[in-house]
Amino acid sequence: MKRLSILGSTGSIGQNTLEVISRYRDRFSVKALAVRNNVRMLEEQIREFRPEVVAVYDEAAASELKKMNPPVEILQGEQGLIEAATLDGVDMVVSAIVGSPGLVPTYEAIKAGKDIALATKEALVMAGHLVMPEAARRGVKILPVDSEHSAVFQCLDGTDMEEVEKIILTASGGPFRKKSVQELGKVTPAEALKHPNWDMGKKISIDSATLMNKGLEVMEAYWLFNVPVEKIGVILHPQSIIHSMVRFIDGSVISQMSVPDMKGPISYALSYPERFGNVLPALNLAEIGELTFEEPDMERYPSLALTYKALRAGGTMPCVLNAANEIAVEAFLDGKILFTDISRIVSDTMSEHTVARGETIEEVISVSEWAKQRAKEIVENNNGN
Ligand code: MG
Repeated sequence: MKRLSILGSTGSIGQNTLEVISRYRDRFSVKALAVRNNVRMLEEQIREFRPEVVAVYDEAAASELKKMNPPVEILQGEQGLIEAATLDGVDMVVSAIVGSPGLVPTYEAIKAGKDIALATKEALVMAGHLVMPEAARRGVKILPVDSEHSAVFQCLDGTDMEEVEKIILTASGGPFRKKSVQELGKVTPAEALKHPNWDMGKKISIDSATLMNKGLEVMEAYWLFNVPVEKIGVILHPQSIIHSMVRFIDGSVISQMSVPDMKGPISYALSYPERFGNVLPALNLAEIGELTFEEPDMERYPSLALTYKALRAGGTMPCVLNAANEIAVEAFLDGKILFTDISRIVSDTMSEHTVARGETIEEVISVSEWAKQRAKEIVENNNGN
């Protein structure tokens, strides 16, 4: 019986995780659930999964949950999330909180020796240089939940990294793959939220449309698989059937395919090194007929180029990129800026940052806060013009 703590249980990954668990009740128990503020859904999850502890980040939402009087201990704030992540008796933490608030609870879980099923890519984007060595020191396994990294992990299957020539991440290209750069200036948040293949949260849907998500995934792969940035490539694959691939030194390419459904990678992270039956419908390639590929156009997707630039700059630059992007995406969703302003705000924020090493989590977070503040100012000035 694997005992789990799920951080971000009401998000898209969290809900899918609980769905997988509900099919394998004899294999998992849910010890803790943590959410940002969706206490209505959390209350239903408490009744169904009977955790010992829940944590609610937002204090007003925590009080609301207390009034519902559910049969569980209720913690709140960042400290509550940390307690849920480090709870005694938990074997694995599913880290699926959207964005930078996921970093500290994930890092604390690693320090407490918990294995991690990692969906919150920000933990590696912001602080891979601290997170990965800490995991190695504690003998903690970090199992990717992101579909691309799960694919690479499955393709590698323990291969010596010396034999790997290139990790190739696939990207659907999002809903605007066919639009001209001019047309991109006019797209609305509603259009950007309509992802062609995957059903995801808002932030990641916008990041998929800009390809920033793919850039963050390049960073995630860099830390997870410990390869130089030159060895990580991106290819557009609109059908989202091949979830990523690895090219080896002998020219062989191994790819991982399935219908696009997050229950696949989630299930593999939970069951590894086993595979569970009955997770996804069989892939019918004859029905799909055609798998196509394109080189990503850096003019249409400047965010992708920015992520390579940030990764090469190293230190705290990826953290600045991530923070500025969070603010820019929020501003776009609020109708304050154009779709094409997102990458410009990220780029402008990056150009004002002097790279530091980011030697502690606290330093990383303070750089992130600086970048958010600066990006907000740039958004405001943008509107003043
Ligand atoms: Mg992904």
